[in-house]
Amino acid sequence: MSAILDRMAGIVGAKNVITDADAMVPYLKEWRDLFRGKAQGIVRPGSTAEVAELVKLAAETGTVLVPQGGNTGLVGGQIPISEGKEVILSLQRLDKVRAVDTDGDTMIVEAGVTLKRAQDAAEAAGRLFPLSLASEGSCTIGGNLSTNAGGTAVLAYGNARELCMGLEVVLPDGRIWNGLRQLRKDNTGYDLKNLFIGAEGTLGIITAAVLKLFPAPAARATAFLAVPDPAAALELLNAAKAGAGGTLTTFELMPRIGMDFVLRHASGTRDPLSEPSPWYVLMEVSAQQATGLDEHVETFLGEALEKGIVTDAALAGSLTQRADFWKLREMLSEVQTYEGGSIKHDVSVPIHATPEFLARAIATVEAMVPGCRPVPFGHLGDGNIHFNVSQPVGADKAGFLARWSEMNEAVHAIVAELHGSISAEHGIGRLKRDLLPGVKDPVELDLMRTLKKTLDPKGILNPGAVLQA
Ligand code: FAD
Repeated sequence: MSAILDRMAGIVGAKNVITDADAMVPYLKEWRDLFRGKAQGIVRPGSTAEVAELVKLAAETGTVLVPQGGNTGLVGGQIPISEGKEVILSLQRLDKVRAVDTDGDTMIVEAGVTLKRAQDAAEAAGRLFPLSLASEGSCTIGGNLSTNAGGTAVLAYGNARELCMGLEVVLPDGRIWNGLRQLRKDNTGYDLKNLFIGAEGTLGIITAAVLKLFPAPAARATAFLAVPDPAAALELLNAAKAGAGGTLTTFELMPRIGMDFVLRHASGTRDPLSEPSPWYVLMEVSAQQATGLDEHVETFLGEALEKGIVTDAALAGSLTQRADFWKLREMLSEVQTYEGGSIKHDVSVPIHATPEFLARAIATVEAMVPGCRPVPFGHLGDGNIHFNVSQPVGADKAGFLARWSEMNEAVHAIVAELHGSISAEHGIGRLKRDLLPGVKDPVELDLMRTLKKTLDPKGILNPGAVLQA
């Protein structure tokens, strides 16, 4: 063990410092296997005070720290990829739900609490914490805030930023900023928490957060719908916002090829509709009245069927059926890995431009790699499409993946023309860092660099993520 890890072990206890090569693998390999990391060790503090001591030591010795939560990030921000001098600071042991306040509808949780546990704690108090991602069993609140995660309920409740009222952060000099305010109103200067949300661990280490809670819906109606094309899905979205009889909480688009992949690779799934359709929508509507929602949604869908914007519909009749519908959507990311190489784009465009984006991007990639299989899916209600492209059947995986940058460039050019974003919800990390100067306003980029230098002058927190080190 290096001298620095020895000193870190003095802070967190030797059993919370991992240096064994096999034991380090889960921290160094990320979900998509795009980055293989190197680190001198993994350090697992158990309290905010320990995090502060570790950061002070790192600042004093110039040791680079890479914060990590559940290691589900999709842009490599949590994985150190240089020579291996870095220390991964795993926040997973900061796992306490400190308080739930049902009067103020807030909850204070530590950074390492998984999203699922935060949701469960809210539910146990008769409330809803609405952030919802397919990775919720593993990802952590610290990671969700650091990436400003989105997911399937942004349409109604906003992304992680909008669900956070206060933060506790360890700054790059080791000071603790206690900003755990539970105030709905507080206009006392700059909103510092928003600096750290979405900063991907480059400006400070989030150790705890105040999260907003909502009334748990008394009823939910979940429908799996066939739609002829994305334009019809958009018309349905606009109609459903006001006309579905409750709050529209989910509106997810899926192509048929995605459904084929799920049915082929995810056990226990089946198509809820009798005929194949080119596109599908998973729609969920919530209400505070226990009765009557299904009837409203049925009437709404009847009208949509008459107009032809929906061609077939299944409304979940039980919790099991609801879970089955959700599984079709949630397995979509994973099943693509069984179909060979997949080139990814996490983009957003103004919602009205989604059909145009899809048509142009599909035509572009099909012309670029004949036989490739576009699998665009995601949060149509937010204009956020995961524009993934699977390799042609039987093609060489490495050869296909070698075209990643070229394909990104072509798809991102369409996104730029439509005034969209090249990272809707996953962040910049290491994967998209070098694309940032091409798309960010130079003044904005300069401000970002100035903030980084001001808060972290020694460059010890996650250098090389978001901005060039
Ligand atoms: P990590 O992956 O560990 O870290 C992510 C970034 O945050 C890194 O830069 C890391 O350094 C930093 N970080 C982590 N913890 C802290 C902390 N306490 N303080 C400071 N910095 C920190 N994302 C979406 O937005 N929407 C989705 O719908 C979605 N679906 C997904 C589905 C699957 C199957 C998978 C695998 C991922 C999905 N993601 C999605 C991406 C991912 O789950 C989110 O980015 C998540 O918020 C990351 O949380 P984490 O705890 O795993 O963070």
